[in-house]
This record gives sequence, C-alpha cells and structure tokens, in this order.
Amino acid sequence: MAEQRPCPCGDGQDYQGCCGRYHAGTPAPTPEALMRSRFSAFVLKRDDYLLETWHPDTRPASLPDDDTTRWVRLEVLESGASGEQGHVHFRATFREGRRWAVLEEASRFVREDGRWYYLDGRPGVTRLKPGRNDRCLCGSGRKFKACCGMG
Ligand SMILES: [Zn+2]
Ligand SMILES: [Zn+2]
Repeated sequence: MAEQRPCPCGDGQDYQGCCGRYHAGTPAPTPEALMRSRFSAFVLKRDDYLLETWHPDTRPASLPDDDTTRWVRLEVLESGASGEQGHVHFRATFREGRRWAVLEEASRFVREDGRWYYLDGRPGVTRLKPGRNDRCLCGSGRKFKACCGMG
C-alpha cells in the first residue's frame, strides 16, 4: 500500500503522509487530525479504526453494515482543544445513490493517555438538491453535470 493517492479527508496531501499514518498507529496530535482520520476511515471502511478511536463510554459494539452511503467531502469549520477536551465543528457531504445530503456536527473529543478519542456530537442532516449547472458537491470545482452528476 505504498502507492501515492490523495487523502480522502481532502487535505490535499498524500494519504500515507496524512491520515494513513494515524490509521497505521501514530496517535493523531489534535482533535481535528483525529476527526479527519475518522472521516477517511469512513471512506475506506476502516471500522476497526473507527471503533478504536471512539471513547469506550460512547462506543457502539459494532458499526452497521452500510454499503449505500458514500462520503465525498469533509469541511472542517472550526476546531480547538483546551487541556484534555477538544471539539470539531464539521460538515460532511455524502450521497446514497442519486440522493445527496450533508451532515453537520459539533463533535466533542477527549484525550486520555496521550490519545484523542471521539466522544459524541449533535448531528443534523440536510438534504441537498444539486442543480445540473451548480458547482459539484464533491468540491472538484466542476459543474455537477460534468462531474458526479454524470450519467
Ligand atoms: Zn487525511
Ligand atoms: Zn463531483
């Protein structure tokens, strides 16, 4: 798995130099880095990583099998940490077939023994109706009809 590919979190970096190293075991240094690596883990279906980085107090026993949701874009609006508490406010765009939606969440994180964990969040989901001539929701900068809306 040494090939170069852009990181799914959209940071513009190579996967190995971005979220890949956290998936390989390096502790994410900030709540935002952990959040980004968890988004990438959703994209790559790394359930093991998602559960590992979930705080034991709120961690589900397992994650639902979900083959229909495709996560396409992450935008971190605001993040920060004070002491062992952290927060990240983000928007994550996803599609289920031809239906698009954005999940916006203010998440809380805690640090224990030098590792950040996802604690919980208040998610809100909004349906999106991209127009054919709108900018594509994936963030490519192209028109929807010439990008993800093709076909
Ligand atoms: Zn990344
Ligand atoms: Zn697109």
